[in-house]
Amino acid sequence: MWSVWLDYSGLRQLFPSIIRPKLRYGRPFKQIIPLPGSRWVRVENLQSGISDEDVTVALTGSLGVFDDALPHASKLFLGKQSVGVVTEIGSDVSLFHIGDRVALQSEARSSCASLGLSPACSACASGNPALCDHRALPWNGAGAGWSDSMIMHESQLFPVPEPLTNDQALLLEPAARAVRAVLLSGLEPGARALIIGGGLTGQLVAASIRALVPGVDITLASNYSHEKTAAAAYGVQQFIPETPNEMLAQGIELTNAQVWKRPGKQIFLGGFDRVFICRSAKKTFETGCRLVHSGGALAQIARPMNHQQKIDASLWRNEAQILHIYGPGSETLPDDISDSIGSRSSTLALAARHMMKNRLVTDGLISHKIAHTQFDQALRIASDINKFQTIHTALIFQNPAPAQP
Ligand SMILES: [Zn+2]
Repeated sequence: MWSVWLDYSGLRQLFPSIIRPKLRYGRPFKQIIPLPGSRWVRVENLQSGISDEDVTVALTGSLGVFDDALPHASKLFLGKQSVGVVTEIGSDVSLFHIGDRVALQSEARSSCASLGLSPACSACASGNPALCDHRALPWNGAGAGWSDSMIMHESQLFPVPEPLTNDQALLLEPAARAVRAVLLSGLEPGARALIIGGGLTGQLVAASIRALVPGVDITLASNYSHEKTAAAAYGVQQFIPETPNEMLAQGIELTNAQVWKRPGKQIFLGGFDRVFICRSAKKTFETGCRLVHSGGALAQIARPMNHQQKIDASLWRNEAQILHIYGPGSETLPDDISDSIGSRSSTLALAARHMMKNRLVTDGLISHKIAHTQFDQALRIASDINKFQTIHTALIFQNPAPAQP
């Protein structure tokens, strides 16, 4: 087994914010790990995605203050996006067979299902295991997305529908988070939306808006020409800088917001109906708050840079909402979607459905594919988006194609 993990051994486990865990890759175990229970599954990965968040975690050794405070196993396996093939199942596995193609749908964390807890907590009971009350308890699997194989509880996997390509399957998890953000934000036809950051998450939010809500006027804040070119394919027409002060100035101009200035204070009236933060940087959140229109919403999808973000009082004055999108789960569907598939759906199933109908288009978003043996290079490409013109990087494993049943 080849894996990438954060090494929390020794004192790092007790004081991770002082002694940072080390990024390691190679063979995490000397021998093959058996399945830890009857509902666990072994998967050989075909490819996995290197998300912005995982790059930040890998390069800084920090999960952010909240997660640093949680207890950790000595190895924290990285990678939330993968597509692979089931090669071994426990005796009570009911959702999968050997040879099935599956996508990872959650982090390598515990939930009521993986812990065998009954009754499940309210988050798990409502189909949102990413928010499980017990997710800090020890997880018994091994490996994750950035691993050539992994052991997951069956509840952590999603059956990939036959028509989807491996590239589409790889993007199911981030696409599902984008779909969740668009649905929870209550975006309506004809509204004005601002997407901050044109990496994979920003592109997928633009794609999801196009798939789910007609007639939305989308503006992208990005400093990279290749991101603007990619977003233009989703009908994004306005582009403003991502640098906070310039984003604010041009966002105000673009929406004809009114500005009232007094020494040390600036008040804005107007702005965008919905703001989606898809890449975090210093002051992004604060700037996003100021650009939300009355009655609007700010959806934070990217992992926050700082433990404490400054919430601008304009949110209160505008009766605007803040939404946080952490992971895919279960969605209450608007009437026009629910007619055909019922009133609730898992976010991954919804994303897959729209991909199969060619409404949620992800062609070209995986800009680089690198063999896992070149992991250093893959990390460089994923982290230097300007030099390599990166939208998204995939790690490719040499595992065999799905076995025939
Ligand atoms: Zn739970």
